[in-house]
Amino acid sequence: MSSLKKIGKLILRFIEYHIVPFFGWLFISKNKYVNVIYYHDIVHDEGDTYMRTNIDVFTSQMLWLSKNGYETVRFDELDDEHIRFKKKRVLIAFDDGWLSNYTEIFDLMMRLRLKYNIFLTMGEISNNPKYLTWDLVRKMHKSGLVGFGAHTYTHPSMKDLARVDFKHEVDDANVLFEKEMGYQPVDFCYPFGYYSEDSNIKLEWESGYMHIYTSEKLYSYQQNGRVIFGRNGISTDYPMHYFKKKVKGYANWYQVYNACFYQKLLAIYHGLRQRRNS
Ligand SMILES: [Zn+2]
Repeated sequence: MSSLKKIGKLILRFIEYHIVPFFGWLFISKNKYVNVIYYHDIVHDEGDTYMRTNIDVFTSQMLWLSKNGYETVRFDELDDEHIRFKKKRVLIAFDDGWLSNYTEIFDLMMRLRLKYNIFLTMGEISNNPKYLTWDLVRKMHKSGLVGFGAHTYTHPSMKDLARVDFKHEVDDANVLFEKEMGYQPVDFCYPFGYYSEDSNIKLEWESGYMHIYTSEKLYSYQQNGRVIFGRNGISTDYPMHYFKKKVKGYANWYQVYNACFYQKLLAIYHGLRQRRNS
């Protein structure tokens, strides 16, 4: 890598690890809802699955949460009190339903008494050997440690609803979940984090989901009686100091950025264009 590229990378990393969290810290009062962090597969070596996390990295992060007295919450505990932002409260979520969410971490989390939640891609459960089985899902649920939510049937992008079989991805997924678990899921997470305003509105009115989770670092907000959550993905190569900032909710800054800078820049740009055209 050329030294110029190296310097560029260092600057970007400095902005990501230090400048952005500084603004997050400054605007911390904008966090109205519990801070959400999320993972996917947990692996031992390098691994090859999407956005995986190394077990040693994960273990040291969980030990830090436990040692620092963090309160963790399950989906079904999100009442008026527990859904609110609170210092030292975090909701830990896993996407997809990987088998490692049981085999690698269940005992560890039980020992540390850290609750966590899993969004299930329903069609993979008990069908794909890399994923959980319904028996394991029920066992984890019964333990009182793990909450479960929906993540569609086949994991499509929900950005363009015209290309999605909404009935299959939402209704059939809910029916299967209820058949296996005996209750309806009320927490839903978008596959790949892709969504549009239309998908939000359709889900709000037609799915029965009360909490809808995106993968953006935005401040969670209420819309049509539902809570739309912003979330913080935890990458396996984050240094510990950045993980701590993410847990504290300092990375939820996109809306401030939008409101303060982007919109103003856009207004100036449109103003200049209008001038040139007139
Ligand atoms: Zn997913």
